[in-house]
Amino acid sequence: MQTKIILPESKIPRQWYNIIPDMPGPLAPVIHPGTMQPVSPDDLLPLFPMPLIEQEVSTQRWIDIPQEILDIYQLWRPAPMFRAHRLENVLGTPAKIYYKYEGGSPAGSHKPNSAIPQAYYNKIFGTRRIATETGAGQWGSSISLACQMFGLECTVYMVKVSYNQKPYRKSMMQLWGANVIPSPSNQTQAGRTILAQHPDSNGSLGIAISEAVEDAASREDTRYALGSVLNHVCLHQTIIGLEAKAQMEMIGDYPDVVIGCHGGGSNFAGIAFPFVADKANGKQVRVVALEPASCPTLTRGVYAFDYGDTAKMAPVSKMYTLGHDFMPPGIHAGGLRYHGASPLVSQLVHAGIVEARAVQQLACFDAAVQFSRCEGIIPAPESSHAIRGAIDEALLAKEEGKEKTILFNLSGHGHVDMTAYDDYFAGKLNDYEYPEEEIKESLSHLPKVG
Ligand SMILES: *Cc1c(COP(=O)(O)O)cnc(C)c1O
Repeated sequence: MQTKIILPESKIPRQWYNIIPDMPGPLAPVIHPGTMQPVSPDDLLPLFPMPLIEQEVSTQRWIDIPQEILDIYQLWRPAPMFRAHRLENVLGTPAKIYYKYEGGSPAGSHKPNSAIPQAYYNKIFGTRRIATETGAGQWGSSISLACQMFGLECTVYMVKVSYNQKPYRKSMMQLWGANVIPSPSNQTQAGRTILAQHPDSNGSLGIAISEAVEDAASREDTRYALGSVLNHVCLHQTIIGLEAKAQMEMIGDYPDVVIGCHGGGSNFAGIAFPFVADKANGKQVRVVALEPASCPTLTRGVYAFDYGDTAKMAPVSKMYTLGHDFMPPGIHAGGLRYHGASPLVSQLVHAGIVEARAVQQLACFDAAVQFSRCEGIIPAPESSHAIRGAIDEALLAKEEGKEKTILFNLSGHGHVDMTAYDDYFAGKLNDYEYPEEEIKESLSHLPKVG
């Protein structure tokens, strides 16, 4: 009974999979927030280095991973895949449950898979300093690590509620050499404007993005980095699914359903896109994104053009959105509190190729605790959404008396999120269904494009 499916280092994927040439239809243009016209590569240059702008729109299906990046990936990749025998037994399911584990990276999540290439391409392009934002701190810690490895300075605007709830991620960022600022801050115009209106603002990812974008756009030596949503981030994360496919092949299996949690879409894209490619070639495989009911972007948002940030400084993309000024409640899965979604994932959901489901916080923590007690690993609160999805699929298989192969991505560990578990056990966590009127209200502020 094999438990760990380990790919040798020599089999680390040497190319990322770019889904753009295989999308069901052309991509919607990205719109400049000022002119409301499609952006040109030059418009993006104050924010991103040219190699990443090129990846953002590349139609090349396979993109080589530079050796300098592979050398660092190899510190924790290939990542293991596990068969969850003990969880299967406890559930009494005929289903096989596999999970790909991304918590073994130095930062404890999948995010370094994109942070490392982003720092690398900035370095070779001549960037000296990175400005970015972070929600729960996973992206901030990942990019701090990556900047440290390539000798870049790093400033991280961290959503205030997380800065206070999760002080240890701040410590990790500082250890790796970054300057961490709670957002909203008085360091930027965007932050000062919010603070003038809401002095006690908890912050949001949208606000922190505005601050980081403003910082990067106003300094020649500085560029911006985003940990999710964008096409190049999804591209880098496909190393997860490519490894998982190779691991499935090693044991002669193939998933009926592939599951990931969804915040901005990057770990989901990572595990899912290589399987979506198979689906386009006729393979029977379901692909399911799980999001929190308190920030139900894919399931209750609209597919429309919207700003990537609250202050309307970031580019406007066609995506599922709850409105750029949507303010999600301070749930513990901080990495899933974003009003928008990856345009690529959005287009696939809209085309009916990817399924989306919303799940409540308490059911996710239930699933995470059950998982930890069987499998040992303590999941990040974000990842618990994927576990909920996988357990529900396994229980359905039991009900239907069907064998089924389930693969989910365990995007990170929860060692720095133990406050969330303490609150769960103390009965302090609630479920939250966003009122329809409030979603309607924030959706009434979408920009007019075209
Ligand atoms: C950031 C994060 C997420 C959500 O981000 P995506 O871009 O949707 O993947 C999920 N899980 C973990 C562990 C994270 O750190």
